[in-house]
Amino acid sequence: MFILVINAGSSSLKYQLVDRDTQEVVDKGLCEKIGLEDSFLKHGLDDNEVVVTLPLKDHYDAIQAVLDGLLDPERGVIASLEEIGAVGHRVVHGGEYFNESVIINDEVIARIRECIPLAPLHNPPSLTGIEACTKLIPASPQVAVFDTAFHQTLPPKAYMYPLPYDLYEEQHIRKYGFHGTSHRYVAQRTAAILERPLAELKIITCHLGNGCSISAVDKGHSVDTSMGFTPLDGVMMGTRCGTIDPAIVIYLIKALGLTPDEAEDLMNRQSGLLGISGVSNDLRDIRAAAESGHERALLAYEMYANSVKRFIGQYVFAMAGVDAIVFTAGVGENDDRTRRQVFEGLEPLGILLDEEKNRKRGGERFISAEDSRVKILVVPTNEELMIVQDVLELIG
Ligand code: AMP
Repeated sequence: MFILVINAGSSSLKYQLVDRDTQEVVDKGLCEKIGLEDSFLKHGLDDNEVVVTLPLKDHYDAIQAVLDGLLDPERGVIASLEEIGAVGHRVVHGGEYFNESVIINDEVIARIRECIPLAPLHNPPSLTGIEACTKLIPASPQVAVFDTAFHQTLPPKAYMYPLPYDLYEEQHIRKYGFHGTSHRYVAQRTAAILERPLAELKIITCHLGNGCSISAVDKGHSVDTSMGFTPLDGVMMGTRCGTIDPAIVIYLIKALGLTPDEAEDLMNRQSGLLGISGVSNDLRDIRAAAESGHERALLAYEMYANSVKRFIGQYVFAMAGVDAIVFTAGVGENDDRTRRQVFEGLEPLGILLDEEKNRKRGGERFISAEDSRVKILVVPTNEELMIVQDVLELIG
């Protein structure tokens, strides 16, 4: 029996088929450019990957293409759709309705629909994916796993913005936080690696990828997180500015006559590492440029590490201490230079990086010095595995 994990993005859809008993991935793939003329499905495990160009007008077609691929007589991995015991969907926004994963029913679908204004690009494709699975594999129960759910434990002092209170009540303006499944997974793994109960630990989880967010996880509960009402807030990112003085936006609208869409584009797609360096949004390119003397690339690097450091500092105070700081996602797992810059000068606080361990590559590992009071770790994230575990817990 298998569990199908679906991650619907605005114009893409990723999937994994996972064996229920061994939790091994037996097939995975990605539909891209959904809704465009050159849409395609890429599927198969690493050395067996194929790309098929086919018309995918929406996420319903994408699910159909995924199921057809799984059943393909030559390349497929299942003989009948009945082998799919359950489906787990990553859903970006659950608003204030969901603080954990849930079995999908009509009420859950209605709530996800209510949250569309909060995630206009992401919740609609998830709903289409759910609808497609309901029609195409009606016997398989479905579970929704929300990016926002883990952060529903934030106290009001952390999630409220100092704006007129009515805006919270009427417009739902508050911090929601994102990447919750990843933060939850790496916090749980950190406790397991430390061989201590999660309920005893203060952990700071740093998800540094294309999007970046940092969370304070106290006794297993998220108590603060850097992304906010939207995933634009917080740490500086590849093309997103993260936290800035909000008056800058108003100033630019007035001074340059920017429209709201142009201002949004500027902050989401032209800022961050790309905006500062002028080189790229990919930290690998920025690093290469910085190391060959490109001044703005070097500045971008320093600003990025400093931005990560600031949030870590905030969360040490928010939790009145920290036992472990953990790095995950593309940059967090791979870029030793960012991690070195983040911890530079923190020795007086008992936070000591082991330079050699930090340089080494690998999977889950400690990178702090033996005598560091605070443990520093790298834990590769695995949101799909977390989704599978939630499905198993809810459905069995
Ligand atoms: P993710 O969103 O987790 O897939 O992370 C993607 C980002 O991770 C890329 O845009 C790169 O900036 C960064 N990244 C991936 N591999 C490396 C690497 N080896 N060194 C530095 N940065 C990396």
